[in-house]
Order: sequence, then C-alpha cells, then structure tokens
Amino acid sequence: MIRYHARWVLPISSPPIRDGTVVELGGRIVYVGPRADAPDGEDRDLGDCALIPGLINAHTHLELTVFRGLLEDLSFREWIARLQGAKVAVMTPERFLDSARWGIAEGVRAGITSYADTCDSGVVLQAMRERGVRGIMYQEVFSPSADPAAVREAAARLAEKLALHDAFETELQQVGVSPHAPYTVSDPLFALVARSGRRIAVHIAESEAEHRFVCEGEGAFADALRARGFSVAPRASSPIALLARLGVLDARPLLIHCVRVTDTDIAAIAGSGSTVAHCPISNAKLGHGVAPVLEMLDAGIAVGLGSDSMAANNRMHLLEESRAAVLAQRVRNSRFDALAAPRALELATLGGARALELQDRVGSLEVGKEADLAAFDLSALAGTADADPAAALVFALGAEPAKFVAVAGTVKVWNWELLNEDLELHQRVTDTASALRAWVERDLRPS
Ligand SMILES: [Zn+2]
Repeated sequence: MIRYHARWVLPISSPPIRDGTVVELGGRIVYVGPRADAPDGEDRDLGDCALIPGLINAHTHLELTVFRGLLEDLSFREWIARLQGAKVAVMTPERFLDSARWGIAEGVRAGITSYADTCDSGVVLQAMRERGVRGIMYQEVFSPSADPAAVREAAARLAEKLALHDAFETELQQVGVSPHAPYTVSDPLFALVARSGRRIAVHIAESEAEHRFVCEGEGAFADALRARGFSVAPRASSPIALLARLGVLDARPLLIHCVRVTDTDIAAIAGSGSTVAHCPISNAKLGHGVAPVLEMLDAGIAVGLGSDSMAANNRMHLLEESRAAVLAQRVRNSRFDALAAPRALELATLGGARALELQDRVGSLEVGKEADLAAFDLSALAGTADADPAAALVFALGAEPAKFVAVAGTVKVWNWELLNEDLELHQRVTDTASALRAWVERDLRPS
C-alpha cells in the first residue's frame, strides 16, 4: 500500500481534508481521509500540495499540437482551410503521432490523466497507450455529400479504420466515432453513425457561421460548399434540433461546444441524456461566445471542460480552463456567485468523468475508484490565508505544472519530472513545426 500525504486532499465528492492522505493499492484507492487515521503503508509525502483527482480533458485534438501558433487571428472558415491545407502538405502519419505524443506529454505534466480526443489520422490511440493515460479516441469522419454513393464510401472507410482501432482497445483506452460537424457531415451520414451503437462525439452549436449554415443554408460554410458543387439548403431550426431530427441525440453523444443553444435546445440535450464538453478559452479566443453553462448545469446536463486543440487554445491546462469558465459565466450573467471555485474544479474532474461516462471509475477520490491522481504545489502561494484550497487552485495558482501525477496507480510525474520521457521527441516536433512554418510562409507569399 502506498500512502500519498498532502497538506490538502480535495476528494471533490466530499469536503477538502487538511493534512490528508490517499492510500493506493493495486491501482485503486483504498483510503481517503486524515493522515492520522490512514492505514499502514509505504509513505510518499507530497508536502505543501493540493492532491486532487487526475484532471479530465473532455475535448482535445492531440494530433494538432504542433499547429500551435500557426493559425492565429483567422476567420473560422480560413482557420479550417489553412489547417486542412497544412495537414495535406506537411503532415505524415509519423508526424501526427509525434504531435499527439507531444500533446499528451504536455497534458500529463499539467495533471491531465484522461483525454476525450477527436482524431482524423487515428494515431491518438497509440499515443495514449504508449504513455499509459486514460482516454477515448473518437475517430473522425467527414463527408458533406448526401449522395448515397458518397455516404456508402465514407461509411466503408470509417468501418475499416474502426476495425483496426478496435483491436487495440484496452481497459484504459477506448474507441468512439466523431461525425465532425454539420458543415462537414451530411444528414444521412449523421443518421448512419447515430445507429452504429458506438460512443459518439460531435462538434455542435459552436459558431455563428455554423448556425447560419444549418438554419438558413447561407453564410461562409454554405458558400464554400456551393463552390465545391454541393447543394445547400436549410436543415433545421438549430444545430441541436438537427441532431435531434437525425437521431444523433438518441445515441447520447458528447456534444462539443454548445455555445449557441436555446432553452429548447438545452431541454432536448437534457432530455436525451447527452453530455457537453465546454471549451471556454477556445470559444473566447476564436470569438464564438460564451456557452450558457449555468443553464445547462441547472437542467441536469453533465458538463466537462475541454482545452480544444492547441491550434485553437493554445495551452492545455484545465485549472486555467476552470478559471476561464468561472470568469466567463460571471461576466455573462453579472453574478458574483456563478460557478463557485469548488464547482469549477468539479467540472474539470467529476464533471468530465460524467460527460465521458467514466464517473464510476474516476473523477473523484473515493474508496474503490481507480487511482488517477494529480498534485499541485501551493508553496508559491505562501502568505495567503490557507482557508479555501479550491479557490487557490482555480483562481490563484495559474497554469502551473503538476508535481505528481498517477494513472490507475502508475506514477507518470514525480517531483515535476515526466517519467520515461522520449528524449528525441523534442527535436522531431521542432522539425515538424519548422516545416509547417515554411509551408505557411510559402502559402502566404503573393504569387
Ligand atoms: Zn474540436
């Protein structure tokens, strides 16, 4: 038995414990409580730390980590167009895999133990397995054409990829499907994926351009598809109504973003048991707006926090996301009490676990749950009143690296050091980033 002692233990599902201890045995938590009452075992003293459940990133694109800084200040349509161009021109399967490895290393250093990742190249499952982190890789599928032959072909290619991935599923790493978004997926393809019985994640109700595309058949996405020869017409009264009509909500998907949702949409999400990945920093940075998180929580929807891709955010740190979530809700609602710090911390842990249906295994420090743990050093905050550790983590700490991280009891970070680091990875991703920069400079040069 290993006894992790810390100045504060925050179980999330129960109040913080000063001078607390979490005891792990065989990958599971067997004790959470005061140090004085802990059962005997081998001691690992984390010192002046807050020990919390491993953080859960409810939305990532780990393969895009090397795109950080490459797509700044573009319109949403230009952003997607440049991303697609660079992917085709520069990236290879090996480069995507390194990019995902780099992203996971960054996430683990920030205390993130679980990842819900939407992935085009399909490399993230391997990257998660190598690092031994928990996660779901949702294989992305794109096909905006409603032509039956195009739908059949997209479905066949998806089935091939899933057959390959399924063979590598484990207890920790699972596979799902992500029909990308309404502007890249046709109605019949959405309906087909909805009936597949798979875990589903979908980008939805994110931007004004998407809203206009779905509701009016107009705007930037409609123009782009018409230019490619597709016919475009209004599809539903809202993006959520579109998913309801096509049976996607019946599959209880993870709904990524949900910035532009009405009370009717929220009732439909809640009624279906679908869950939400809220990405406050990405939504703010791309100028999409602030999701009505309080209303979604009041409706009983499970909400987790996501960093989104490093091409959008550009940082992966869930304590920072929790701070942004609180500030955005307080600005949006002019309420001082919108999302108290403990609630924001819950979104980054147990909320994420509920959104991914992992709440029986992780998300809180409880006896019987798997030992996904993260500890953040509080000594930089010396001199502040030691009264509210949740407020310290959410409001005061900033994007600090974790001092200690474990997944199912296996230590990943000890004394801020990532264990089993691939020492050549840094050079490889640096080379890829240089190739991407060179491509953008060529692409932007006037001809
Ligand atoms: Zn995304």
